[in-house]
Amino acid sequence: MTTGDLFETQADHARAAEFSPTRQAGLLRLDQFAARTGKHYASQRNFDFGPDRRSNVSALSPWIRHRLITEQEVLNATLARHSYLAAEKFVQEVFWRTYFKGWLQQQPSVWTSYNEGLQRALDDGARTTDYNDAVEGRTGIDCFDHWVRELIKTGYLHNHTRMWFASIWVFTLRLPWELGADFFLRHLLDGDPASNTLSWRWVAGLHTKGKTYLARPSNIAKYTNGRFNPEGQLAKTAEPLTEENAHPRVPVPSPDAMPDEGFLLLVTEDDCQIGATLPRQPKAEIGLLATQRRSPLAIEPIVQSFAAGAVSDAVGAVGAEDESWAEQIIAAAETAGVKTVVTGFAPVGPVATQLQNARLDRAGLTLCQIRRDYDSLAWPHATRGFFGLKKKIPTILRSLDYAV
Ligand SMILES: Cc1cc2nc3c(=O)[nH]c(=O)nc-3n(C[C@H](O)[C@H](O)[C@H](O)COP(=O)(O)OP(=O)(O)OC[C@H]3O[C@@H](n4cnc5c(N)ncnc54)[C@H](O)[C@@H]3O)c2cc1C
Repeated sequence: MTTGDLFETQADHARAAEFSPTRQAGLLRLDQFAARTGKHYASQRNFDFGPDRRSNVSALSPWIRHRLITEQEVLNATLARHSYLAAEKFVQEVFWRTYFKGWLQQQPSVWTSYNEGLQRALDDGARTTDYNDAVEGRTGIDCFDHWVRELIKTGYLHNHTRMWFASIWVFTLRLPWELGADFFLRHLLDGDPASNTLSWRWVAGLHTKGKTYLARPSNIAKYTNGRFNPEGQLAKTAEPLTEENAHPRVPVPSPDAMPDEGFLLLVTEDDCQIGATLPRQPKAEIGLLATQRRSPLAIEPIVQSFAAGAVSDAVGAVGAEDESWAEQIIAAAETAGVKTVVTGFAPVGPVATQLQNARLDRAGLTLCQIRRDYDSLAWPHATRGFFGLKKKIPTILRSLDYAV
């Protein structure tokens, strides 16, 4: 199979334009896909037919990750067209993102230890020839090399492909999982601390202790519709990785209440649409980015510009990423004459770290992080495996007024 010319086609350009970081583009994609969230999705979703024939999954994740469109909007569109039973599989997939976010929120040291492990791997000179071959798509494993190029070009990979990729990285190439997770986070338009870190840990046997995911050639051949068959090239066993760190569980913090006084609205890449949920207009708005802080290494320009586009679609101008958040927020609050800053709840990750480091209280500002009811209802059930949340989905949906 030749892969070299795959991305130099007109479809390639069309695809790049398709991932346009606007709410309108996300809503359009949702409208087009909603009819396919029923039984068709359930039976076809595991196939990766390739980037030019991807109509069996939604590719909505870049918009949902930045909340240019929200999980609830996706559920609204789905359940307006299908019964819950018909769309159950798709609805559950939407809740996987929620599960990972809620889980990491309650075991935040997993994010800290991922970052420490990544820094150690980089310091140890783990960016060896093998690593360079992997990230440049020169391993000789045809499917893997193809996916590297696809990821770099498009900023997206199919879920099943992400699983195969991570499994080959950990068990065949035997590279540190943190370097693979970082490679994803720097290249995925939907790069997300919770879904990414916990999915890599799940493949490696660290999330569900001792349970790993082994990529099998026959499974790849079947679900790529025969495009690839790495027979004889992949590890045949997947011994779970282990770690010394224990990760204590912490309670989900209480959400902040909406303030009575005038406020500055801060829009970040974690929830671009929070402004639309507020009962009152802000006195002023500011948009700030933490995208470069997803990794110590350089973030791909397409990822950076998707996040910047998403925030500016919501708020107009976006602040400079290399300047201090504290200074920019304090200056904007002073200009607006307010003492309160309202933002969407920042889940564990770079935005939350930036907000913590800003220490706005020292400047006499109050920070209110407004959490959506959807998160507040679901997160407490994301403590162990996905099953714990899955069985609560109908109850959660009913609490949100869906007729389920
Ligand atoms: C190793 C690995 C790393 C991943 N890294 C990320 C990441 O950085 N960011 C990210 O958003 N997702 C990540 N995922 C999860 C998943 O692969 C993507 O969310 C999904 O492929 C997005 O494609 P889609 O929108 O076409 O999904 P669809 O199949 O159309 O599903 C609809 C929506 O449900 C959610 N969803 C579906 N599957 C998953 C899943 N397994 N986990 C979490 N949410 C899901 C997404 O919001 C998705 O947009 C990762 C998965 C793996 C195995």
